[in-house]
Amino acid sequence: MIWFKASEFACTCPRPACVGKTGSIEPDLGERLDALRSICVFPLTVTSGLRCPEHNAEVGGAPDSAHLTGQAADIECTHAGLRRIIVKAAMLLFDYVEIAPHHVHCDVKERGARLLDVGTG
Ligand SMILES: [Zn+2]
Ligand SMILES: [Zn+2]
Repeated sequence: MIWFKASEFACTCPRPACVGKTGSIEPDLGERLDALRSICVFPLTVTSGLRCPEHNAEVGGAPDSAHLTGQAADIECTHAGLRRIIVKAAMLLFDYVEIAPHHVHCDVKERGARLLDVGTG
């Protein structure tokens, strides 16, 4: 990855198994996030990358969430104009994009025809 550090994708929960652990994301995710960042030009902040199963349940993630397997990242976005840019670029790059109130979920998990959804990410 060029624009992101592995530590930015660590599970953010306070459990001993997660604190101080970086974990690893799927290389494909990192490559596509770099491409997204290059297209967007402005900085992107990862608000959620890897999640342990407990943390995923706490934040209301799907039981088979791509965050569990290092295949997803939520990109912070509270600005409507920037969100349009992020979403359009993300739809070109990722297998699945979900628009939440404060972030855009981008993942590389194969799941058939679904590409865009509006939800909690
Ligand atoms: Zn955790
Ligand atoms: Zn997400």
